[in-house]
Amino acid sequence: MSKPAYPLVNSKRLWQRHLDMARIGATPGGGVHRLALTPEDIEAHLLLVKWAGVHGFSTDLDAIGNMFIRRAGSDSSLAPVASGSHTDTQPLGGRFDGITGVLAAFEALETIHEAGIETRHPLETIIWNNEEGSRFIPACMGSAVYTGVEKLSDMLAREDKSGVTMGACVDALRQALPQAGSRELGAPIANFIETHIEQGIELETNGNTIGAVTGMQGYRRFQVHVIGEDAHSGTTPRARRKDAFAAASDMTHALRERLWDEDDEIRYTIGRFEVLPGGISVVPGRVNFCIDLRHHDEGILNDLGDAVPRVCKAHAGPCEIEITEFLRLPPMSFPEAMIAGVEKAARRNGFPHQRIYSYAGHDARHVARLCPAGMIFIPCWKGISHNESERAEPGDIAAAAQLITELLIDQAV
Ligand SMILES: [Zn+2]
Repeated sequence: MSKPAYPLVNSKRLWQRHLDMARIGATPGGGVHRLALTPEDIEAHLLLVKWAGVHGFSTDLDAIGNMFIRRAGSDSSLAPVASGSHTDTQPLGGRFDGITGVLAAFEALETIHEAGIETRHPLETIIWNNEEGSRFIPACMGSAVYTGVEKLSDMLAREDKSGVTMGACVDALRQALPQAGSRELGAPIANFIETHIEQGIELETNGNTIGAVTGMQGYRRFQVHVIGEDAHSGTTPRARRKDAFAAASDMTHALRERLWDEDDEIRYTIGRFEVLPGGISVVPGRVNFCIDLRHHDEGILNDLGDAVPRVCKAHAGPCEIEITEFLRLPPMSFPEAMIAGVEKAARRNGFPHQRIYSYAGHDARHVARLCPAGMIFIPCWKGISHNESERAEPGDIAAAAQLITELLIDQAV
């Protein structure tokens, strides 16, 4: 089949769709609060399904609540060529993180459909469930289960702060979409490309519209429990104290020194730290904290991560410690053909572009285990993200949607 001319996306419609989605879970501060599979997030799914219905696109759900909007291809035996991202946000999050990738994908489907282009492969827009991980841990849950990184039964049993399980939320989504078909977990996908705001300042600084993403950092995450003994803060002398906070602060200080590098490439964060029982006059008998460690080099990440338990144990003083590594993902690279494909399409359209590394995690990381995957970054004002002030420009969003349209045509015709 000869390649059809590339149709142009409707940038006005695409921007309007962003405004319509931003109303669902809108906050007074101009952001969006739409945690995974809350009534607001389900409403966002339903709005997309409503738009899809106008063109006769079908909808499928899988067992972990990922949603697939499909435009049929001429050969139903072929796997879909897909694009997408997520609709959930961080608490008091922004209007672009996630949803831009969903709407750019959907705009591509509509544009191709309206141009009457027949593709051999089906085309899909995917909403991966619970990307943010702020209501249910871990992040990127939907894509992780789909690609076999996490176990379905474990993830369905995960509870939010009020004890609601992911399983109950997936049931609610299914009830809201009685007409949806079902998709097998792990069913083949031919290609996947995800648009996302950069969440950094590289594109903005360089004046580029498009980032062809080359890969993502690896992670290691640890949960540390420091166990001492509760005691009276007035009567207990130093020699008899088992002060869990004192031990934990020695550990975190030593870790900060061990995980310091001249080039500022190591990412070491303690974002959760709990002191118990939390009485002003009680020597704390318990501290729980989490370590998030990231690096782009697998060897370095291995060495640094292996040092974490050793450093913690060496600074435990009179306390006991339990340390568990609960997440370990190596750094990954997207296939060169996907990166070069994004660059080629950007060049063809005259969009200023560059290669860029992703310092944040995204669903495309997991999907890359299943099929050739890639990502397109667009600028994000001042790099501000996971924040109500998050901003992306309509022209940049349309540029990404244009590239997605062309890449889907290249891969699916
Ligand atoms: Zn995101």
